[in-house]
Amino acid sequence: MPQLKEWNELPVAGALAPAQADHPLTGGWRTAGRPVTHLSACVNCLLCWLYCPDSAIVLDGTTFAGIDYDYCKGCALCVEVCPANALSMEPAEDA
Ligand code: SF4
Ligand code: SF4
Repeated sequence: MPQLKEWNELPVAGALAPAQADHPLTGGWRTAGRPVTHLSACVNCLLCWLYCPDSAIVLDGTTFAGIDYDYCKGCALCVEVCPANALSMEPAEDA
């Protein structure tokens, strides 16, 4: 059996800084509608921002400002966690 290397003898893996990575438009994968915002109902809790797996929630400073459909995959997590019914899922062609 070959001699295994110690952890500190292994080569360092490559890593990309965020600005170096490609930014695939994950919104192109959206299949089951998309969330629509109702800003007058929003209480700015930012739970949607916290839970969105694609960082598609747009903020203006620390204020909820909408959704970036280039990256929204339509998973509806934001709608599920919104405590104020300020988001609803709509058919993609109507939103
Ligand atoms: S539907 Fe999913 S991907 Fe789109 S904004 Fe809401 S949580 Fe993010
Ligand atoms: S979860 Fe709902 S109430 Fe909270 S910031 Fe998002 S849209 Fe506004």
